[in-house]
Amino acid sequence: MRRVTFSRNYTLSLSRTCRCYCKYCAFATHRAHLYAPAEVERILDDASRRGAKELLVLTGEKPEVHPEVAARLRDYGHEDFTSYVAWACERALERGMLPHTNVGVCTPEELARLREVTASQGLMLESVNPDLVVHQGSPTKHPEARLEAIRAAGELRIPFTTGILVGIGEAPEERLAALEALGEVQREYGHLQEVILQNFVPHPRYYGAEPAEIADEAQRAERPPGEPARLPAWATPITLDDMRLLVRECARLLPGVGIQIPPNLSDWWLPLVEEGATDLGGLSANGDHISPEHPFPSVHRMRKRLAPRGYALTERLCVYPQYMDPGWLEQGVLDVIKLKYWSFIPRRGSGRREERPIRRDLVAGAIAKAREGGELSPVELTALFGETRPEAIEDMRQAADELRAELAGELVTFVVNRNINVSNVCIVGCAFCGFGQGRRSPDAYEHSEEEFRRRVREAVEFGATEICMQSGIHPDWTIVDYERWLRVAKDEAPEIHLHAYSPMEIDYLAGELPLREVFERLKAAGLGSVPGTAAEVLHDGVRQRISPNKLPVARWVEIIEAAHAAGLRSTVTVMFGHIEEPWELAEHMRVVRGLQERTGGFTEFVPLSFIPFHTLLGRTHGIEEISREENLKHTAAFRLALGRTIPSLQASWVKMGLDAATEALGWGVNDLGGTLMEESISRMAGSYHGVKLDPEDLIGAAHAAGRPAAERDTLYAIRRRYEVPVAA
Ligand code: SF4
Repeated sequence: MRRVTFSRNYTLSLSRTCRCYCKYCAFATHRAHLYAPAEVERILDDASRRGAKELLVLTGEKPEVHPEVAARLRDYGHEDFTSYVAWACERALERGMLPHTNVGVCTPEELARLREVTASQGLMLESVNPDLVVHQGSPTKHPEARLEAIRAAGELRIPFTTGILVGIGEAPEERLAALEALGEVQREYGHLQEVILQNFVPHPRYYGAEPAEIADEAQRAERPPGEPARLPAWATPITLDDMRLLVRECARLLPGVGIQIPPNLSDWWLPLVEEGATDLGGLSANGDHISPEHPFPSVHRMRKRLAPRGYALTERLCVYPQYMDPGWLEQGVLDVIKLKYWSFIPRRGSGRREERPIRRDLVAGAIAKAREGGELSPVELTALFGETRPEAIEDMRQAADELRAELAGELVTFVVNRNINVSNVCIVGCAFCGFGQGRRSPDAYEHSEEEFRRRVREAVEFGATEICMQSGIHPDWTIVDYERWLRVAKDEAPEIHLHAYSPMEIDYLAGELPLREVFERLKAAGLGSVPGTAAEVLHDGVRQRISPNKLPVARWVEIIEAAHAAGLRSTVTVMFGHIEEPWELAEHMRVVRGLQERTGGFTEFVPLSFIPFHTLLGRTHGIEEISREENLKHTAAFRLALGRTIPSLQASWVKMGLDAATEALGWGVNDLGGTLMEESISRMAGSYHGVKLDPEDLIGAAHAAGRPAAERDTLYAIRRRYEVPVAA
């Protein structure tokens, strides 16, 4: 899965009066146009109501050259237009929206003034040809003037969006020269967050008309109104291949910079994403004010076209993640991000949002203590999860590996099992889940008994010793249904071990029944052990944010304790790499360790890294998949946090891929989990690591790490060993 981003914005065309006369522009007017403050406030209220995260302030250049605009600005108490733009941006910030301004060529002073109240700014370079017919009468369209302004923004450390116009009369080599010029600027300042490759589309002029109204009409019709406008004489026709070349060159000349394709200006946005474009721009809730007759395709529709090709459409803010720090943004702007859009702040290894200090001075001592099995304090654990220094992380890895060798030996175990997710119908609605579906969703399913039996038989034929059974929280099921699925499985495969029902399912099926009775009934129906899922992060603050309808920590603990008391072993999981903080993971480990010390019922600890792609949390909170390095570091930290309490630590190949799971064998891991045969939960969240492995794959992974492998059963009895082959 690859992420393709967009920003949910709202356009404020504060003034359309412009000093330039570009021939392609339908936006500008040379009459006086300026919204009054009350009107601006009304527009901002509407933007806020419509859930915009970005306010795109789009204006003509230097509108105060028009005497009437200048007079109105004075009436509103502003000495110039920049001051009025800044005022509008402040009002947007007050409403929790992040301003991105695009007001034409600015002086360094004007850029600096706007920097105080914006999250990012923009100016299209357009072209490096200084003699284009379309730019006659527009002195600030001279490439030198624009490059100077773009460089000035770099000097001022302003996260910046720029781009080129394609098809306005330039020669193909001039397009590449423009990208080269931007590449040079980027190498010097590093402030270009994205480059827009915008193809020219001809359109009528809109004098006297309101772009938002034209956009609204086009949106409702879902197509441009009327006949398509004819290509003017000065324009150059563009082909998909021209655009493909530009995407490739942009990626080469500006590595790491976003490549934006406006999805409303042609049908070729999809092939261009496949070519390497990374962004579909700001999808304005009130339309495209530059080309209002071209409606944006809906997010839903774009997502449907992208998903089968392996792309996940996710939201971003107008400022790209790498610029969300005090070196690039004013404190007031950062405060809005921290308050409203904290989940978009990238993890940089430590204390991302609530700035709790990470006590690096404690790390060496904590590693030594953990190596001896000692229990770490919350601050020590927080320091391990928040560690960023490569040498300290290597020390963590070594200690975790030694602890693994001491507790679990060299053997790498796995279980031959099959997952069966009987139904994905779910009423809970966790934000991190791509699996659960409403009953009426076209993706909802529920296996018939016949289908369920077939899957059980198939598992037996495959040699599975375990069936892992979990489903959504189905509104029609009662404990009787849960008992029935167990009985049917046992009827089909009397020998098979049934590892079933998460604490969330147990909580739901139990209703008012005492847990002791519930587990007795489930055991009688064939239950063999319980998956310790639904743990996510055992911290109620995190749970409130990602799954407010899920059972609270205390109930999760109560259910697992009851399972252990009933003689059922369980696993225990953690889901990390989303919005949680290091100190919240520390709390999770405190709960897990305490519980294990009381009951000794956990068979293994299973870290599950968050797969963001098809989940609400990933799509609308901008959360990216955790990096392999961070994933491995967390793996070692989990091993150290457990000390000698739970001897088995698993790596999930579904979440991290078999390659990373193999590497994790050197980071404290001794178990590679199951063959699974079908895996719907991660797959529906967008995991690209497959749904089934053969035992040979897992044996091969162990051998690749130079360790012997063994098939185990659910409760860790060894069934078969596979020694490392001796080299011939
Ligand atoms: S995680 Fe489980 S409970 Fe939550 S929505 Fe998904 S299926 Fe339902």
